[in-house]
Amino acid sequence: MMTKTTKPTPNSTIFNSILQINNLFNNFFSKTLVNENDIKYIFKTIYQRLLFIVSILLLLSCTTGDDLDAVDIESEFSAPEKIVKVNIIYVESSETLDKSSYTLNEAEFINYLNGEYFHRFGIGLELGESKSLVNEELYDLRDNEGSEPSTFLMQSRESYDKSKVNIYIVKRCNIRAIAGIGRDQRVLITDENLFTSTTPHEIGHALGLFHSHEAENIMNTVNKDSRHNFNETQEKKIKKRIDEINLNN
Ligand SMILES: [Zn+2]
Repeated sequence: MMTKTTKPTPNSTIFNSILQINNLFNNFFSKTLVNENDIKYIFKTIYQRLLFIVSILLLLSCTTGDDLDAVDIESEFSAPEKIVKVNIIYVESSETLDKSSYTLNEAEFINYLNGEYFHRFGIGLELGESKSLVNEELYDLRDNEGSEPSTFLMQSRESYDKSKVNIYIVKRCNIRAIAGIGRDQRVLITDENLFTSTTPHEIGHALGLFHSHEAENIMNTVNKDSRHNFNETQEKKIKKRIDEINLNN
């Protein structure tokens, strides 16, 4: 017995086809197997089960096709062209080391920086190491008010990794007038400013960028809330710097 397979069609057509096949089978059995009721019953049972499976398969093939169309996902950004590793360094004092109060979710932090700022420009930050640094001078920068940048560069000289971008995190309450500092592959940022445009701004400095007056530019100093973009020159400069940093690996 041959059955014609048809392409999945709307459900009413499938139902009609199944009915037709059903009628054909019924005619066949009633004409040829009238006297063999047992065999007829067995074949009919098998046939009904097969029919059930076939109809389920036909229905499934329709719905699967529809689903595939609906879940066609297109990713927002292609893989980053330049990748640089980032070390995270928690600044502690000898008194705080045992009971550190930094509660940063590092993966979330890196995802935030990539998703909000860097991936759009083909730049990818990747989490390197994370560690603690005991340094009293850095921990309480209020003692060095006015000379924070030079103190930072001096005190981080031994601990930063030349093959990475190094983000030093300090307590906001221990710095008076500065949200962040960035230079020479090093960023110092207060814990309260991690998830703001201050972080990409300071990373920009750490990778060689100066300030910009362009509206919405990440290196703008006027409106922190509007900072989103690097311009083409800045993007090229950052990528070149990343290449140089990666040569130190
Ligand atoms: Zn700046």
